[in-house]
Amino acid sequence: MPKRKCSRNDLRKDDAAIRKKYNTPDTTKKGLSIDDYTVGWICALQEEYDSSCRMLDEEFDDLEADEADDNSYTFGRIGPHYVVIGCLPTGVYGTNSAARIARDMARSFPRLRFALLVGIAGGLPTAENDVRLGNVVVSTPQGSFGGVVQYDMGKQLPGGCFQRTGYLNGPPDKLLGVLPVLRRRYNDPRQPDRIAEHIQRMNDMPDYRHPATDCLYHTDYPHQSGTNCSLCDPKYLIPRPDCGGRLVPVHYGTIASGNSLIKDAAIRDEFARSEMYPLCFEMEAAGLMNNLPCIVIRGICDYADSHKNDVWHKYAALAAAAYARELLLTLKQSKVAGLPSWVEDLSHASPTTSVGCSRVLPKKACVGDAFREKSWIGDSPRLGAHIEPRLIVGQKRFSTVTNQSPLYYACFIGLAPAVSLILEGGADPNVYCAAYGGSPLEIASHLGHEAVVRELLAKGANPNLCGNGIGTALQRAVFGGYEAITGILLAAGANPNATP
Ligand SMILES: [Zn+2]
Repeated sequence: MPKRKCSRNDLRKDDAAIRKKYNTPDTTKKGLSIDDYTVGWICALQEEYDSSCRMLDEEFDDLEADEADDNSYTFGRIGPHYVVIGCLPTGVYGTNSAARIARDMARSFPRLRFALLVGIAGGLPTAENDVRLGNVVVSTPQGSFGGVVQYDMGKQLPGGCFQRTGYLNGPPDKLLGVLPVLRRRYNDPRQPDRIAEHIQRMNDMPDYRHPATDCLYHTDYPHQSGTNCSLCDPKYLIPRPDCGGRLVPVHYGTIASGNSLIKDAAIRDEFARSEMYPLCFEMEAAGLMNNLPCIVIRGICDYADSHKNDVWHKYAALAAAAYARELLLTLKQSKVAGLPSWVEDLSHASPTTSVGCSRVLPKKACVGDAFREKSWIGDSPRLGAHIEPRLIVGQKRFSTVTNQSPLYYACFIGLAPAVSLILEGGADPNVYCAAYGGSPLEIASHLGHEAVVRELLAKGANPNLCGNGIGTALQRAVFGGYEAITGILLAAGANPNATP
């Protein structure tokens, strides 16, 4: 009998079965349907997946995901929450891959309310932020940033300057709302160290133990050679006092996300002096934030310098997973139930929206075509993966998940034909877009989309609206160096003396 050819998917399934056999010995089976799962948990690396699965109180039977979905999934429960843990296929990483997993998960598990992105990252220690190996960083809004910044999305300007563009959503308020409770308990030395207790769940796997040394070298001292720092001179170490306190110190703030692996202390320190003040660098979050409501939890495994090695990978992944477990145990089930699921968001939306500007979109096919007219999918797969299905399906209201609207997106990516159709459909050109912090005209001016600016002004956009103190449309156009838009706005009556 001829042997059936083993496909890539078969191998993945075998691989997933082996992982589970060794990492979750006390598997409990229970019949649940896809609709019972409300929390997504996303990992990129094997050690992240392994330690995440060990945080489950119970593991349940596998369910059939969408057939086009190549991710590995484990199903289980943490406290009152039913959780789907998804892992990217082996060897796949980066912001675009993360966007893909988000899209696949949304399709396979439409009742999920939000996701946790759990894994490792390179830390950025500064005098202000004593970020160390094995610490955890959680994405939370800071200044004008929502918690994650995509540092490599933007334009290269003459003179070597890089202008960052694009704005990422912050974590959902209901998740942010639980953090003060978690932090208070964790800061109170009278309370048990619950994250340390969760870490003990992997005591039977020596690979995951806390490594003995945490070496931070001076910025100008490069790694000598080898897979660890045994040949590096200890006299170049930066002396740091013992931390004391909890086993896993946790930092809250901005996470820098991009597609390149940062292994250079000088570049790292350059970021420390930037307006972002990131606490760590990683490679997936930017692909998720605008695709689904998400909070990012990162264990620090290196200092993003040439001394980077794998020694801390497993423990750092475990620390992040332990924090994520504690977050879910602190989060009440009623809070999760209060969040809209993807499917509700798209099919039960009210035709008269209170948040967005897409009151009516009668010409759904036309809008879809308008979006396809420009090859923006090729230009921006991260946005493309998100916008097209939602825009076409959600002809009534866009998305309360991301609190954004078709007009917002069309202005954001600079698609004048879509802006025109959406406005003809009854959208308000002067609505405030909360996710960005400004009017459609401010967004288009900020990002240099000249045709969109013309379209908005022609259809009644007020050139003197000022959303949130970042600047008027005119100020934003000047700041971005968009001369033509500056002229158009002035001609349309923009006040040159306005202050934000
Ligand atoms: Zn070294």
